[in-house]
Amino acid sequence: MTNSKEKPDLKTKVRALFDDFLLEKQYRKTPERYAVLDIVYSSGSRHFEIEWLCQEMEKQAFRVSRATVYNTMQLLVECHLAIKHQFRKKASVYERALYNDPHHHLICTQCGKIIEHKDPDLIQLIGAKSIRRFTPSYYDLNIYGICSTCTRMNRKKRK
Ligand SMILES: [Zn+2]
Ligand SMILES: [Zn+2]
Repeated sequence: MTNSKEKPDLKTKVRALFDDFLLEKQYRKTPERYAVLDIVYSSGSRHFEIEWLCQEMEKQAFRVSRATVYNTMQLLVECHLAIKHQFRKKASVYERALYNDPHHHLICTQCGKIIEHKDPDLIQLIGAKSIRRFTPSYYDLNIYGICSTCTRMNRKKRK
């Protein structure tokens, strides 16, 4: 599975993967697209929405539309550099696909919140699994239920 520590050459590696993909698909190599990739693979970007990404781009003085940022994320998902989580009508949540700390997701079916969950036993179990005639590169485990905030709200409503 993916290793947990962020390596100094991480951005160079993902840039090379993105390079190959853009070349193969004959998509344009724009500085904006690489800037988005850099942000996705910088620390502090665990689970994020397009809105956050737009703000980060602005901080770096990139003048890009929301559509451009969105389209770039679609490309990153297409080349398996990012994972997209979409739940009901909530805004999509993204995260990097490679060099991510192993973790699972608790997803509230009421408010759509995605909570990062780290269960060392489960992570070890899945990490140690070998699958016949298959080489896993990453996995995504979602556990659906009701978050504590919604549970509290539901209790209040019932009173
Ligand atoms: Zn995640
Ligand atoms: Zn909830």
